[in-house]
Amino acid sequence: MEETLFMIKPDAVGARKVGLILAEIEKAGFEIVAMRQIRMTADQARRFYAMHEGKPFLDELVAFMSSGPAVPCHLRRQNAILGLRELIGATDPKEAKPGTIRALYAESKGKNAVHASDSPESAKTEIEFMFGAVGAAR
Ligand code: UDP
Ligand code: MG
Repeated sequence: MEETLFMIKPDAVGARKVGLILAEIEKAGFEIVAMRQIRMTADQARRFYAMHEGKPFLDELVAFMSSGPAVPCHLRRQNAILGLRELIGATDPKEAKPGTIRALYAESKGKNAVHASDSPESAKTEIEFMFGAVGAAR
């Protein structure tokens, strides 16, 4: 079994797509180990996306990710990391395969509905970032 961090971003929470997106996650066989609704500060969003420091889209991304509530989920399944990346589809919904979560629910390359860890290292760091605090539900 493998674990990964999934997050429903503020655009999709605002559009009331949380239930539909979680249905796709459960249909694909992922177990929800922990889940919460948060609102990140700009500083927290910048730390979450530290790997993108220096990229031209970072300021816009930080503003978007701190603009409203998001729903991070700690997920578990076999081949969870690559399997979830496949289920969400390409970063830009115009390039995402039909039926993927981003093809179904993303508005644009920036406001693209969901996040998924891209490697075992990011999964560990990101699960800890979202659920490492005392009192997390696991
Ligand atoms: N992003 C953007 N413009 C870009 C590339 C990325 O606004 O040209 C945003 C988008 O929200 C994306 C996030 O930054 O999901 C992180 O980028 P990454 O390349 O890690 O894409 P992901 O792993 O989310 O598919
Ligand atoms: Mg990424």
